[in-house]
Amino acid sequence: MSSVPSQHQRVLSGMRPTGRLHLGHYHGVLKNWIRLQHEYECFFFVADWHALTTHYDDPSIVGESVWDMVVDWLAAGIDPGDACLFIQSRVPEHAELHLLLSMVIPVSWLERVPSYKEQQQQLGSRDLSTYGFLGYPLLQAADIIIYKADAVPVGEDQAPHVEMTREVVRRFNHMYGANTFPEPKTLLTETPRTPGTDGRKMSKSYNNSIYFKDDADTIRKRLRTMVTDPARKRRTDPGDPAQCPVFDLHKVFSTQETQDWAAEGCRSAGIGCIECKNALADKVVVQLEPIRKRRQEFERRPDDVRAIYRDGARRAREVATATMVDVRNAVQLLTEEEL
Ligand code: SF4
Repeated sequence: MSSVPSQHQRVLSGMRPTGRLHLGHYHGVLKNWIRLQHEYECFFFVADWHALTTHYDDPSIVGESVWDMVVDWLAAGIDPGDACLFIQSRVPEHAELHLLLSMVIPVSWLERVPSYKEQQQQLGSRDLSTYGFLGYPLLQAADIIIYKADAVPVGEDQAPHVEMTREVVRRFNHMYGANTFPEPKTLLTETPRTPGTDGRKMSKSYNNSIYFKDDADTIRKRLRTMVTDPARKRRTDPGDPAQCPVFDLHKVFSTQETQDWAAEGCRSAGIGCIECKNALADKVVVQLEPIRKRRQEFERRPDDVRAIYRDGARRAREVATATMVDVRNAVQLLTEEEL
């Protein structure tokens, strides 16, 4: 985005608690949040209601993951002094706004969101023909506009959701002759490819991930099993780094010098894959070890973590409650002051 960021501008982003956080989350989302928290007024939330739209029949994973997620965020470096951290269901005004928006938004808008069909296909083992799953982009719109967010950081695949949010804002403002909500901008975020040990996208469901909780030994063991360029069958065969997921991780974790060493050694068969993986493991361990240690510290202080999220919910509710007064006025529902 070309405009100059400002701490007066507000950013909102959330993450669904459906499992432990891994390196893909760190490089895909959290590193960006850590930067944004110094540049904008940030609201970051654990999207537990969103998790239920796909995991409604297995809520235990959501309950467990909420706690893991809040600790992981703090350990990764999200600072509650800079950003407001909260759990979505602790701010029930999101649900009220979602309901009111559902009165005015045509079903066809939701059916045409690309991720609706895609996710139904990808998560074929789950029954996603529910009202809640169809409506989740509208819940996302409510999440964003209840804070009158100026911008939403998203990868390209999520950009249509922000575009729909802008349409929702235009329709609501036009229908009720009010200027209740600003249109949020998209803050396009480049997400580096972070493959798992089998070369596919890192994901808990593929059992191919390296987690924030993993110690140095576990990380080294997991990386040692990682798939490589399939054409490099023997140590003496030259390889192609462009075909190797290990090299994709080098691009995320290693210095240019190490990347050049790995690429040259691979192409000339000057190094073996074990050597290459060990060099990568050194870099990953250096990045993850401090996060793991901070994680353990936060786990020893559960009351402090709870206090951070309680305070975050209080701050978030102050903003959300003020927005809902404007919304109720716009749709001519009685407000507390009028009763
Ligand atoms: S040397 Fe490194 S980049 Fe080349 S195939 Fe082996 S692991 Fe992959």
